[in-house]
Amino acid sequence: MLKTIAAFDRIGEENAFAVLARATQLAATGRDIINLGIGQPDFRTPDFIVEAAVKALRDGHHGYTPAVGILPLREAVAADLHKRFQVEVSPDAVMILPGGKPTMFMSILMFGEPGSDILYPDPGFPIYRSMIEFTGARPVPVPIREKNNFAFSADETLSLITKNTRLLILNSPANPTGGVTPKAEVDKLVAGLARFPDVAVMSDEIYDHMLYDGETHVCLLQYPSIRDRLIVLNGWSKTYAMTGWRMGYAIWPGKLYDHARKLAVNLHSCVNAATQYAGIAALTGPQDEITKMVAEFDARRKTVVAGLNRLPSVSCTTPKGAFYAFPNIQRTGWKAKPLAAALLEDSGVALIGGPDFGVLGEGYLRVSYANSTENILRALDRIGEFLNTRKAS
Ligand code: PLP
Repeated sequence: MLKTIAAFDRIGEENAFAVLARATQLAATGRDIINLGIGQPDFRTPDFIVEAAVKALRDGHHGYTPAVGILPLREAVAADLHKRFQVEVSPDAVMILPGGKPTMFMSILMFGEPGSDILYPDPGFPIYRSMIEFTGARPVPVPIREKNNFAFSADETLSLITKNTRLLILNSPANPTGGVTPKAEVDKLVAGLARFPDVAVMSDEIYDHMLYDGETHVCLLQYPSIRDRLIVLNGWSKTYAMTGWRMGYAIWPGKLYDHARKLAVNLHSCVNAATQYAGIAALTGPQDEITKMVAEFDARRKTVVAGLNRLPSVSCTTPKGAFYAFPNIQRTGWKAKPLAAALLEDSGVALIGGPDFGVLGEGYLRVSYANSTENILRALDRIGEFLNTRKAS
């Protein structure tokens, strides 16, 4: 028998991919499946971005690039952050990575080991906990509560920090709840972190363009007091409808940059060269398609929230960001995962049970509105019919 390390008994997954596989399998049998499960924009990558990648290939950009990414792209990231958040970021602190995920993978590897605590949002993106467990660190959930509009509570977060805490993971706008933490709460959290100078912060800001109702993004780089221990995760996947291109970026403080560079050299060498040129076009080109996408998500958000609130025994807080709604289904009598499974198998609607995002996700479903309004309305009809006719099991 091959004997691999015990950490592989602890690593988790993202159930959204399993739901997608099952939905695809059912669709292949001829079933009409409406997918509100997957967290990716249903738009095409804007043409000018695709053209930039094609041109890069035609221009002969076929080889390895520096492991940290090409300088013009790192400069474009720094300029974009400066333009949007008035922050100074050196291109030498920017690293281009194959997606947003590698930043969480690398930062958790840098701080996770037996004896260390890592704080992460629950409900939250499942890979945080999975990676924390993989390293042998203790996962400490930071509760994200509906009564708090799914924002972080600064006081509660600070109260969970111990002498063993090495890393705090933040995510706003958030997956799976669509919650956005208000600036006053972030201010309070950052002020409180002054008492814990040895705690690093990883801020996952991958949904930073997807904000509604006049919200503006609070980028953690705007807080000089934590810059020397702040890692920012961001990327192109959601904003530019580029999930399959696999490109993201990280801002690393101090020596963490070199740790990450070495991990990149050991792991993937560099991000695909043509994709990096597409990334420059995305950041420096016209942003109107992005504005249009966000406006379309906003319209769907209103449709989905209103529709969910009309369903029997379902209530849904209005999310302020990302492209997810997180309806409360506690009064239906169903547990979330059996309900999600039955909705897929019996009604052909794919969505994700809240517990796939942490124990505090019980009683909720994640509904991705990255699908057409027509499909959202059809899905809502099917869910309504299901809840009216089926008893909880
Ligand atoms: N962070 C959050 C909160 C996400 O929801 C996702 C993707 O769903 C990611 C990071 C990963 O993004 P990428 O596809 O660029 O790796």
